[in-house]
Amino acid sequence: MVDQQAVFAVDLGGTRMRGALISPEGDVLVRDTVPTQASRGEPAAMRRLAGLLERMSTAVPGVEVAGIGMALAGPVDPVAATVHNPPNLPTWDGTSPTADLSTNVSVPAWVHNDASLAALGEFVYGIGQGMSNLVMVTLGTGVGGGLVLDGKVYGGLRGFAGEIGHLVVEPAGPPCPCGGCGCLEVMASGTGLARMARERLEAGESSIVLSMARGEISRVRAETLVRAEARADRLASEVLRAGGRYLGIGVATLRSVLDPEMIVIGGGVASNSHIFWPAMAASARVHGMRGDKATLPVTPTVLGDDAGLLGAAAMAWGELGVGPSYLK
Ligand SMILES: [Zn+2]
Repeated sequence: MVDQQAVFAVDLGGTRMRGALISPEGDVLVRDTVPTQASRGEPAAMRRLAGLLERMSTAVPGVEVAGIGMALAGPVDPVAATVHNPPNLPTWDGTSPTADLSTNVSVPAWVHNDASLAALGEFVYGIGQGMSNLVMVTLGTGVGGGLVLDGKVYGGLRGFAGEIGHLVVEPAGPPCPCGGCGCLEVMASGTGLARMARERLEAGESSIVLSMARGEISRVRAETLVRAEARADRLASEVLRAGGRYLGIGVATLRSVLDPEMIVIGGGVASNSHIFWPAMAASARVHGMRGDKATLPVTPTVLGDDAGLLGAAAMAWGELGVGPSYLK
């Protein structure tokens, strides 16, 4: 007997795949994780996901899985449901993960970029409930971005819009893996902050960051800087302040272009550093338009790591006709 319907939501990253059965209200009924093992190829990963779904369905008796929503770490063409050169999933270029998964489990499936779906998760189940526009910026190894405009995930011409990490915030900045230079991703991501600190240490600056990294400059991480900041370390504080300022330039630019109701910021540095957030806010005001200086509609994520998973669920429910479609 079917007591309840759920969708299988998947957050598919370079190292792990998180799965959950989620109700239309956004309640997580069960969750589990399996390794991606991306190098073994996309079909093998989809077979592992099908196994995960089977185990989770057994764990919740009476639940019927109506569809699948997948948040994937990389550019996705949402119409063709194909993946385009995902940096964290080498050899997956051109594959159709949801098509392959659907043949294993025979329910409809939809896929979109993970940062776009993190924005949708916050929009439907998080801080953005009741709003019509929301922008999400996620700071991690890179900088992800997602746009929900007038109630729809905005994908642009090919589904690749929302690459907020590649806004140029420092024209003289270092090269970015995207092919540009001085992007937000190289100036404010965890990787970018660690690089700035390492460069200063290599130039001979003294800082407790070095001893915290056991004397090895290559071991310096953004988290090391946050810990050193708590001990009033000058180098760590200056690097985090600089990163916050660069994010503020990005925030001001997003406001000028999109005038969103809310800009949601995710990631450990933004929430754990006491310097980064105020530096971002001050810079967003300095670089913002005159009328934008009094207010700053920027907030930390409320869903945290679950934003992408819940966005994948919201997308699937919408495409199944339970609630509005967020794609078209
Ligand atoms: Zn870039």
